[in-house]
Amino acid sequence: MSGKVTLVGAGPGDPGLLTVKGRNALKQAEVVVYDRLVSPAVLELIPETARRIDVGKDAGHHPVPQGRINQILLEEAQAGHNVVRLKGGDPFVFGRGGEELQTLAQAGVPFVEVPGVTSAVAAAAYGGIPVTHRDCASSLHIITGHAKEGAALDIDFNALVRTRGTLVFLMGVTAMPAIVKGLLGAGMDPDTPAAMVERGTLPAQRRCSATLETLYPLAKEMDIRSPALIIVGGVCALADELCWFERLPLHGKRILVTRPRDRAGTLSDKLRELGADVTEFPCVRTEALLPCPAMEDALGRLEEYQWLGFTSAAGVDAFWSCLRSMGRDARALGGVRLAAIGPATGRALEAHGLTADLIPEVYDAAHMGRALAKAAADKVLLLRAEEGSPALTYALAEAGMAFDDIAVYRTFCDNPRSAELRKELEAGRFDYVTFTSASTVRGFVSAVGADADFSGLVGLCIGEQTAGEAQKYGIQVKIAEKAAIESLVELASRK
Ligand code: SAH
Repeated sequence: MSGKVTLVGAGPGDPGLLTVKGRNALKQAEVVVYDRLVSPAVLELIPETARRIDVGKDAGHHPVPQGRINQILLEEAQAGHNVVRLKGGDPFVFGRGGEELQTLAQAGVPFVEVPGVTSAVAAAAYGGIPVTHRDCASSLHIITGHAKEGAALDIDFNALVRTRGTLVFLMGVTAMPAIVKGLLGAGMDPDTPAAMVERGTLPAQRRCSATLETLYPLAKEMDIRSPALIIVGGVCALADELCWFERLPLHGKRILVTRPRDRAGTLSDKLRELGADVTEFPCVRTEALLPCPAMEDALGRLEEYQWLGFTSAAGVDAFWSCLRSMGRDARALGGVRLAAIGPATGRALEAHGLTADLIPEVYDAAHMGRALAKAAADKVLLLRAEEGSPALTYALAEAGMAFDDIAVYRTFCDNPRSAELRKELEAGRFDYVTFTSASTVRGFVSAVGADADFSGLVGLCIGEQTAGEAQKYGIQVKIAEKAAIESLVELASRK
């Protein structure tokens, strides 16, 4: 039986600009065929189970010819796969999406098209340029600046100039001198505002604002490269007033986020919202130690404990899996009180309909231990990492509390991209690296190699213990006021 092809517009780069429908299609994909212009952040949304086919380049770094792409789509669909064809921007705006669908139509393969946000509008918008405005443009023209090999540009400049509308040229970086010359030759005022937006909507976006006459020398000076838009028209003069994206507090800041993959989401999203260029590098992975006879035993006699303490979401997850595997549910907790080390762990409990009775004022092991010692009158059960901080049990022991401390998950470091990361680090690719625990510092250092030169690196650390660990390796530190993600984000945006 034939599969089907969903042609999806990936948007201009910012993963938030992928449509909901596009994202859903991606979630279901078995095979994803994608282009060079699809941003890495969007590619990260491809499910791990899906096979990826990169047609943006082959071994020789030349793009796969269109005829071959059409063939790949056909073959994959005819093999019965659910294929997503992912293209930058909107598939039908200079994306050759029409040609691909024609091949499928002729072969009788079912297909669906999900439009995307085109860079022609969105990259302009992120550059502070509204493509129309009542005061200066009542039409919008999207033009390709790409000429067939060896041929001259086939553009009717006289007609374009007569429209008095906003002109947006895609694929125009190489042909820019010819485009400018064509417009001037057709009588356009050399003082007409003009701009280029390079890598629009991405954290590395750059804008070059000029006039028609000065655009070329200025863009050359800035070394503007593809992908970039050339925009010509009165609307370009609004950019200095409206460039909201460039004014975001973390715009252009390159931040390495070292959290475990499944927990990186919120921190990365928040940093991205503030304009940061985030690279996720999960140095530490957690693995539940299941089956866990010690935990099963303890959960079997939960009534013996007055408090149950969690120091991470991973611990909560391991606990819940174990409880469920025993055929029990939240009712098993009865009168047991719940302690969480911080808000993220609290949220992990909330995900199961449980509310933490206690979260210490300062979110670390020592404070949690002291808070528990104060609140508890009876035995405490701790479900945490194999190498959990002794500060917690020390505080309980000091207060004479009875407790059981059970290792329910393990953290370990492995990341296949370590060598690559080390090169980038040593080349000064990052402004900041975030550390959310002492174990992420250790994971990071062991992934990159303890002999690497960390002195140029600034670590944004959650809490004193984490910072102390980072300093051991010569990493400069900034310490978040509260040991919580929000505080870390605030720290990153502080001047
Ligand atoms: N289908 C795409 C366009 C493909 S043509 C869309 O709708 O956006 C490729 C051209 O699009 C590039 O040469 C460049 O001019 C433009 N482009 C694509 N992504 C861009 C981006 N993030 N910023 C600026 N221009 C971009």
